[in-house]
Amino acid sequence: MAIAIKDNICTLNLRTTCASRMLENFIPPYDATVVERLKREDAIIIGKTNMDEFAMGSTTETSYFGPTRNPWDLTKVPGGSSGGSAAALIADETTLALGSDTGGSIRCPASYCSVIGLKPTYGLVSRYGLIAYANSLEQIGPLAKSTADCALLLSVIGGYDPRDSTSVNIPLGDFSQELTDDLKGLRVGLPREFFEEGVEEAVKRHVWSAIHLLESLGATYEEVSLPSLEYALAAYYIIAMAEASSNLARYDGLRYGYRVEHDDADWSRIYARNRRIGFGAEVRRRIMLGTYALSAGYYEQYYLKALKIRTLIRREFEEALKRFDVLVGPTMPLPPFNIGEKIGDPLTLYMCDVLTVPANLTGYPAISVPCGFEGNLPIGLQAITKPFNEDLLLKISFALEANTDFIGRRPGLS
Ligand code: GLN
Repeated sequence: MAIAIKDNICTLNLRTTCASRMLENFIPPYDATVVERLKREDAIIIGKTNMDEFAMGSTTETSYFGPTRNPWDLTKVPGGSSGGSAAALIADETTLALGSDTGGSIRCPASYCSVIGLKPTYGLVSRYGLIAYANSLEQIGPLAKSTADCALLLSVIGGYDPRDSTSVNIPLGDFSQELTDDLKGLRVGLPREFFEEGVEEAVKRHVWSAIHLLESLGATYEEVSLPSLEYALAAYYIIAMAEASSNLARYDGLRYGYRVEHDDADWSRIYARNRRIGFGAEVRRRIMLGTYALSAGYYEQYYLKALKIRTLIRREFEEALKRFDVLVGPTMPLPPFNIGEKIGDPLTLYMCDVLTVPANLTGYPAISVPCGFEGNLPIGLQAITKPFNEDLLLKISFALEANTDFIGRRPGLS
């Protein structure tokens, strides 16, 4: 099968750029574990896909190589940061695709391009060979055009890897088994905070019709409140930027990375120049904010507080998932928007991640499944569940796939 791979996942002898000028000519001397496993199953790597630079974004507009467009409407963003993977799938340029999800980067483009995207439980898929943005939050995961494909890909890439110290050593089930649409007895929790003012009416309408469909297949639903979610976005951005500032310190253009050919200055000026030119504006913004959040005096005020909030959120999810099998809501608070519309306003852009970051803060698995169209623009439903319960997410995906026609639709590209 043909697979497209996000360009922050290392491929032996195949350029891996992170969509950054900094790594424009980086050719990895090794394969990421996921790539190794795919090759072992005879997968054909059909190409590397565009992304936001270093996976920092929700639109694929911050790529050094230019934006990816949404195949459903070329004036709209495809979501991000794995926008190239999702767009390539729905444009039928590939059968399968890999993305990475630090705060929604698999689910957001899956939602905006109308494909299935799954962020696995933290530790299920090896991160060895994934160029790090924020280690404690991210996972590699599958994007696909059918639930069966998604399950198959997860079975291939998942499982213990001694080269990733956060990889979990438990036996992996066969995700392809048990794909039925019988949801009898399934208890669905609807987090109130996932349906509040920030979420557009059209999005809620389509998600609600999917919830009624799940109900008709045997599920019951009830509202639940997760009050700490109010702080999820702030905590996410502090943690993500702090980790990013540390991870990206290695790119100095001396050992590797983009180098400006000038030897007329001292070491620190060469270093600063390489980084100013090698990194784009969003990456530099995050390095600065992350460094600030970790600096003496501010560490307690920002980073430490964010970690405490993370624990609170995890506890709330744990409690909620004792009462419910799954939490359901929209993936994105609004349908795909225009290219260029929000890129100059980082805060508004960060707000788009409000519904996806909780699964990264908790480490819980989450999926985005197509659940409707507003005009010709796709809407995605998100389901989150307990760790290592991916088969339940796939079951919900299969139920929606078997009982609606959204997953088979293709944009009329001409
Ligand atoms: N949009 C989020 C961010 O910019 C998530 C990115 C991701 O998941 N890689 O941090």
